[in-house]
Amino acid sequence: MASLEKAVVKGLAEDKGLYMPERIKPLPKEFFDSIDKMSFQEIAYTVADAFFGEDVDADSLKKIVYDTLAFDCPVVKVTDQIYSLELFHGPTLAFKDVGARFMARLLQYFLKKENNGKEVNVLVATSGDTGSAVANGFLGVEGIHVYVLYPKGKVSPIQECQFTTLGKNITAIEVDGVFDDCQALVKSAFMDEDLNNHMKLTSANSINVARFLPQSFYYFNAYARMKEIGLADQLVMCVPSGNFGNICSALFGHKMGLPIKRFIAANNANDIFYNYLKTGEYNPKPSKATLANAMDVGDPSNFARIYDLYKGDHQLVTSIIDGATYTDNNIRQTMQSCYAETGYILDPHGACGYQALKDLLQPGEVGVFCETAHPAKFKEKVDDILSSDVEIPQRLQEFMKGTKQSIAMSKNFADFKAYLLGE
Ligand SMILES: *Cc1c(COP(=O)(O)O)cnc(C)c1O
Repeated sequence: MASLEKAVVKGLAEDKGLYMPERIKPLPKEFFDSIDKMSFQEIAYTVADAFFGEDVDADSLKKIVYDTLAFDCPVVKVTDQIYSLELFHGPTLAFKDVGARFMARLLQYFLKKENNGKEVNVLVATSGDTGSAVANGFLGVEGIHVYVLYPKGKVSPIQECQFTTLGKNITAIEVDGVFDDCQALVKSAFMDEDLNNHMKLTSANSINVARFLPQSFYYFNAYARMKEIGLADQLVMCVPSGNFGNICSALFGHKMGLPIKRFIAANNANDIFYNYLKTGEYNPKPSKATLANAMDVGDPSNFARIYDLYKGDHQLVTSIIDGATYTDNNIRQTMQSCYAETGYILDPHGACGYQALKDLLQPGEVGVFCETAHPAKFKEKVDDILSSDVEIPQRLQEFMKGTKQSIAMSKNFADFKAYLLGE
């Protein structure tokens, strides 16, 4: 057993396993009864208090929550039965902004309390969005240095700008390999004794509890906003998934009593979880590059958490979570037909979620899918598929003005280790 502080500062447990909250506090019925009268921030504070309230004083926690959620998370109607939960209104237009900002502030809180002056080094592997969210969430935070590892040539130009142009306490490392190579480098670093003796290391991937748990705020808010319009009785939440941190946070919410009828994990062609649902067997595979690149994960880290949450009971898992998998062609067709029929512009990730609801919703159910990325983040692809000219929000344009700075790295751990050791 570990304190929250240890779980946040260390990221990964000593046995290389993932930290899980010791118990999950159910929230009272009155909270759900009146949730539709509460704001996103008020809801989030109640949820955060259930997770972190024993370890963080109320004033500080409130400040962390309100500081993290200085933006909105609206639910937008796409069809009569399908709504889009737009998770892209944060500072880097990524849903990961919430977890990244929350973690940065919580880590800062613990470091201040501890006050031993040793810098913490955050390692994060990214296929695109995580890097920008984490880099921006931690930018300028004292006592913390961030290393963002990303696969060369495999992130969109806008995404790359969002973490290579910042400077200060952010170092971008361009790895000659795929996302799994980046993730493997980060994992090897955590396991390496020399490195851990040399520097304080932690992870800002969704293996860190402070990164993935705050994402549950979104689902409580989605429920509240759907309840507000009288559509929350048979709610199905569909989450486009890669590393499964986002859906895992939703499942924690469910365990706390959030009345969502069932969940759908929408995958691109990386169908490892889908196959687990169908067969009961989990067989990780190398990731495949797809249009929805933030979901190109061949061995989702948070699978272990979901497995643990339901004690490995496959039948129980499939009674709560359904799955779907889509090829790039499916994604293109979905984006085109949704745009033609409703005028709503999906990004390739959200397209998987929308299509899964179209395919799997039953009569009487209402579905909400997470639109996980602003379409402008994948402008080249989206415009190409829809013959559109998606407007780039001002915030994104600002990032594109900076100069790219990154360190070229091979995928061999020995090289990465030598670099971190300053050799
Ligand atoms: C990270 C990401 C996902 C996948 O989320 P997980 O928590 O890794 O399952 C989906 N879409 C986008 C745009 C993302 O950035």
